[in-house]
Amino acid sequence: MADWGEFGFIEALCQRLPPASGALRIGIGDDASWWRPESGNGILTTTDMLVAGVHFDLSYTSAADLGYKSLAVNLSDLAAMGAKPVCVYLSLGLPAALKKTWLDEFIDAFLELAEVYDVQLAGGDTVAARELVISVTLNGLAPAPSPLLRSGAVVGDDIYVSGSIGDSFLGLQLLQGCLQPDTNASAATDFLQSRHLRPQARIALGELLAASGRVSAMLDVSDGVVADLDHILVASGGLGAEIEGRRIPLSPAARQFVAAGRIALRDLLTGGEDYELLFTAAPAGRQKIAEIATRTGVDLTRIGQITEKDTILLFANGVFEELSGRGGYDHFHN
Ligand code: ADP
Ligand code: MG
Repeated sequence: MADWGEFGFIEALCQRLPPASGALRIGIGDDASWWRPESGNGILTTTDMLVAGVHFDLSYTSAADLGYKSLAVNLSDLAAMGAKPVCVYLSLGLPAALKKTWLDEFIDAFLELAEVYDVQLAGGDTVAARELVISVTLNGLAPAPSPLLRSGAVVGDDIYVSGSIGDSFLGLQLLQGCLQPDTNASAATDFLQSRHLRPQARIALGELLAASGRVSAMLDVSDGVVADLDHILVASGGLGAEIEGRRIPLSPAARQFVAAGRIALRDLLTGGEDYELLFTAAPAGRQKIAEIATRTGVDLTRIGQITEKDTILLFANGVFEELSGRGGYDHFHN
């Protein structure tokens, strides 16, 4: 960075971008960007900050993985509201010793993912910093009639989760060397690690769920299924939940680890960074939700039900176990 400099980087970045178009009237280059939604249900904004050594470890995270993931986690937050992402801001705190090739690969992966979702890079900031810091802010259009909030669950609602649970946690354990890979299952190892490094935001699914009018509460799983379910329960006025262990959707790779007794189901439920959608819906919505699963090709699995009692119970192997929803990752307590 010392050779390249702030303005060299910004200039190179601008050269890579097409001119602002669509809702984005003015992108990078002026004192502020200007974007004007063409339709009118409001704007949703989410922001996330990633700090080296806290949120990522450069020893096993490539520049491209990080460029991808720093946008993907923000996309996931908008997916959780049912929003359509439009424009993104990227602020970087860069150590002087950072290599140009590293930043090139980071930007390549970031912009590649932005293009997949038709998101324009509209601005940001670039400063020198002792540690690598990445801050991404993403704007999107709110769905009609309303974004999906965490607060709408009621007693008797079904609880659903998209995709499969625990892959990212297992992937992280493998990357960190806390778990030894199966020597004859390298495809499974690659799958689990990529679920951690390259989470897929459920944008299309979020939009369809919001439009269905069937979903009562939704969020994306970043802290772990149990902790995030607890966020819904608290936001919905202090409700409880019962989860059925045999219904938890596991990938074949994760299932192998559980079957071999190398990981407990509850660890997968508390692990975090799944970036799947967790939502509630009245039983009357089951058919509609099944249709959305078919249409998107994303599994939507009913894992339990909302109850009155203010606890989360896991039913597995014939017994109920109480899970603490307050076990999610807390930056100032972990
Ligand atoms: P100002 O001094 O007016 O804040 P800057 O010199 O910081 O402007 O930035 C110039 C332009 O480059 C602005 O439009 C800003 O949004 C954009 N920019 C700076 N850093 C980044 C970045 N990391 N990603 C995207 N755009 C950036
Ligand atoms: Mg600035």
